[in-house]
Amino acid sequence: MMNINFVDLRRQYRRYKEEIDTAISGVCERGEFILGSEVDNFEREFAAMCGAQYCIGVASGTDAIIFSLKALGIKEGDEVITVPNSFFSTALGISMLGAKPVFVDIDPRTYTIDPSKIEEKITKKTKAILPVHLYGRPADVDQIRALATKHGLFIAEDACQAHGARYKGSRVGVLGDVAAFSFHPSKNIGAYGDAGAVVTNNKELVDKVLHYRTYGGIKRDCYITYGTNSRLDALQAAILRVKLRHVDEWTTQRCKNALLYDKFLSRSGVVLPPCPSKNFESVYHAYVIRVKNRDNLKHYLAENGVSTIVHYPVPIHLQPVYSHFGYAKGDFPITEKYANEIVSLPIFPELTESEIGYITGLINEFYKKA
Ligand SMILES: *Cc1c(COP(=O)(O)O)cnc(C)c1O
Repeated sequence: MMNINFVDLRRQYRRYKEEIDTAISGVCERGEFILGSEVDNFEREFAAMCGAQYCIGVASGTDAIIFSLKALGIKEGDEVITVPNSFFSTALGISMLGAKPVFVDIDPRTYTIDPSKIEEKITKKTKAILPVHLYGRPADVDQIRALATKHGLFIAEDACQAHGARYKGSRVGVLGDVAAFSFHPSKNIGAYGDAGAVVTNNKELVDKVLHYRTYGGIKRDCYITYGTNSRLDALQAAILRVKLRHVDEWTTQRCKNALLYDKFLSRSGVVLPPCPSKNFESVYHAYVIRVKNRDNLKHYLAENGVSTIVHYPVPIHLQPVYSHFGYAKGDFPITEKYANEIVSLPIFPELTESEIGYITGLINEFYKKA
C-alpha cells in the first residue's frame, strides 16, 4: 500500500533545502525582519511574473481581498457579486467591510462564475464583481468585463488559487482593477506560514493598500486612515523569492499530472475537470473530479492510504454566518449539486507517475466493483 498525502510539503523542502535555508539565514544575518529588501524584491518579482506594475505584500490572501475591495471604496451598504462555490474567505472579505456578498451560481462546465447569470443580480448598490479563478482555472473575464463596463462596476480578482494562470494570453492579476493572491503553504506558490499580496496597475490603489497594511500610515508617526498590521514577513518574502524561481517548472509538472489523471481515468466513468485550452490556461491548483458515491470513494481511498479533500463541501450561502440572508437549499443548484459530487485528488508537483497510477487504479477498481 502507498501512503499519499493530499499535499506533501516536505518533499519540496527536501529538494530545495539548501536554497531555502540560505534564504532564511540571510534574513536572520541581516536582521531585517519587517519589510525591507526581501519584501521589496519579492514585490517587484511577483508583479513582473503577473505582468503587472505593482504588487504589495500583505499577511494573507484574506487581507489581500479585504484591502483590494477597501481600496476600491467598497463600504457598508454596497453589494459585491461573487460565487457561493469558493473558499469562505472570498465572501468574508466583502462582509468584513460591511458590504453584502451577492451570489451568482457557477457555470456547470467551468466551475467558475456563470457570466450569463450576473446581470440579473446587479442593483443600484452593486459596486464590484469578484470572480474567483477556482482550482487554478481563469474565470471567463471578457464577459464579466463587458458587464462591468456597461454598469460602471469594478472587477477584483480572487486569484488566490491561480498564480501564473493565463486567460487569453494574459496572466491573472491584471484582468480587472485589482487582484488578491494567497501564499498559504498549500497554494501553488506557498510560504512557510501565512502570506498574501495585492496586485494592480493602479497607483492610487497601491498607495491605499500601503496605508492599510501599516496601521494607516506609510511614514512613522503620521496616520491618515484606519489601517491594521498586515505586512508580508521578510522571512516569508525570502522563501517566496526562492519559490518564484521554480514555479514555472512546478506548474508544468502539475499540468503533466493532470494529463496523466485525464488519461488514466478516461474509462472510469467519473467526470473529469474541464480541459485546459489556449484561452483558459489552468495552473491546476486542484484536480477536481465529480463522482457517484463520493463519500464512499473518499473513504475507500483513505483506507488505501490516499488522502483527498473536498473543495468545498458546504457552499458559502449555506454557512451559518449567512443564515440571516435567508438562503435556502436549492437557491444555487449547480453549486449545491457539485458540493456533493466533487473530490480533489492529490496533484502537487512532486507527485510521481506511479503514485498517480496507484490512485487512479483504486478509483477504476472502486467503480468496477460498484
Ligand atoms: C486560500 C484562499 C483564500 C484565502 O487566502 P488565505 O491566505 O488563506 O487567507 C481566498 N480565496 C481563495 C479562493 C482561496 O483559495
